[in-house]
Amino acid sequence: MISIAWAPLYAHPLPATHRFPMLKYELLPEQLLREGIVPESAFFTPQPPPVVDMLRVHESDYYQRLSAGQLTRAEERATGFPWSPELIARETTILGGTLECARRAHQYGVALNIAGGTHHAFRARGEGFCLLNDQAAAAAYLLAHPELGVQRVLIIDLDVHQGNGTASIFQTEPRVFTFSMHGARNYPHRKEHSDLDLALPDGTDDVAYLRLLRETLPRLLSQHQPDFVFYLSGVDVLATDKLGHLALSRDGCRRRDEYVLGLCHQHNLPVVVCMGGGYSPRIADIVDAHSNTFRAAAALWG
Ligand SMILES: [Zn+2]
Repeated sequence: MISIAWAPLYAHPLPATHRFPMLKYELLPEQLLREGIVPESAFFTPQPPPVVDMLRVHESDYYQRLSAGQLTRAEERATGFPWSPELIARETTILGGTLECARRAHQYGVALNIAGGTHHAFRARGEGFCLLNDQAAAAAYLLAHPELGVQRVLIIDLDVHQGNGTASIFQTEPRVFTFSMHGARNYPHRKEHSDLDLALPDGTDDVAYLRLLRETLPRLLSQHQPDFVFYLSGVDVLATDKLGHLALSRDGCRRRDEYVLGLCHQHNLPVVVCMGGGYSPRIADIVDAHSNTFRAAAALWG
């Protein structure tokens, strides 16, 4: 059974000139249903979680100021979004979605959030369109609930940008292994230390990318022995992406998702998938690539 978190407020109105492709949060669920990739019954409507679920990975002062609209102008500018109460409702709902996905994946094997992967959010600040770190909060939630039996978490972050916030949050947490494979010359220019960082040269293509991934992931599974996986399936690795600098084809991106999810399935590892970034000029390129992630999950767990 496959579960998908989505709510209409995921598509949050932004100024017309804003470069963030908010439209994908409207088009992706439409396309999944139109093409019959997932049944309508797979969708659930997430809710903002109790504050305690956010404060495991965020400083209380930051969270209070963020939710009350009291960030400094510099802090707000770093997030990349104009602050509003509706934006906070969106971000907390997305985080609640990833948390609920973790509970459902624990039960059924897989769950996907049509948003999230806000890996540039640190304990006490946001940046790069990320205000609260959803996968970090969900990983911390699992570890804080021993009755769930999750002892080691692996975060597979394949967004083209380094998961700097996630790496920083779990720097001293040995139960969470952070793996980030990203563009070497891309944002963030000052990188944090994940447990494993693989920084790729500009122009990395399908063959080189998939070879490296196939060499790395099985080794991580046997070394770290995770019992739960978070996958950040950013599609800004595509050659068409205007921020990415890598050169994956849509087919290569699909094979990446099939490989990661196939490996989780094969090892009986529950997995939560969050969308992450995608900045191809044609919105169809973004939505098609994300749709393939759902197709791969549905083929394995549907
Ligand atoms: Zn990204």
